Amino acid sequence: MYILLMGPPGAGKGTQAAELVAEFHIPHISTGDMFRAAVKEGTELGKQAKACMDAGQLVPDSITIGIVKERLAKPDCHKGFILDGFPRTIEQANALDCTLTDLGIELDRVININVPVEELVNRMTGRRICKGCGATFHVTFNPSTTGVQCDKCNGELYQRADDTVETVTKRLTVYSDQTKPLIDYYQDQGLYSEIDGRQSIEKVLSDIVTSLRGE
Ligand SMILES: [Zn+2]
Repeated sequence: MYILLMGPPGAGKGTQAAELVAEFHIPHISTGDMFRAAVKEGTELGKQAKACMDAGQLVPDSITIGIVKERLAKPDCHKGFILDGFPRTIEQANALDCTLTDLGIELDRVININVPVEELVNRMTGRRICKGCGATFHVTFNPSTTGVQCDKCNGELYQRADDTVETVTKRLTVYSDQTKPLIDYYQDQGLYSEIDGRQSIEKVLSDIVTSLRGE
């Protein structure tokens, strides 16, 4: 099963990816992990990517696509993958199509876990993190007993600086503008499925699985 997973920050993509790994026994390949691995392994492309990042520059598409290609060619991807965080642009989507053709792979489905912006803002600005152990709580959905202390280690809870309404709204607007052309691109290819991410984790998963199995 070759899956491309999309969804705005805060939509629960990581949770669903983990569920899909267990369901289909295929690797979850996120852009961040892929970069870290390439840098750690010291591949030629990894070195080039690191040089860009160290210089505070964006990693150019030529390098990013090369790293994706190397990763997707690895043996653990022979039965499928869940690709997450790539492509971000039409140019990258075109490059991915070429890469997959080279590898003899066809995408089965592009899954977009969609959640309205207001709900995402609510989810993300309510997040509280423990200074001691890193546990996460949510003022509405998963509050700690006291509201100010961690239930696990009694550490102090804080809100990440980029979890404010302004920064979250800005981040989501950027994401949505960036993603729109990709949605059209995969809709034209007949691969696109939108999943209602406002539902429970179990219902979102079952909707994804139904969509993947073409039921
Ligand atoms: Zn804690």
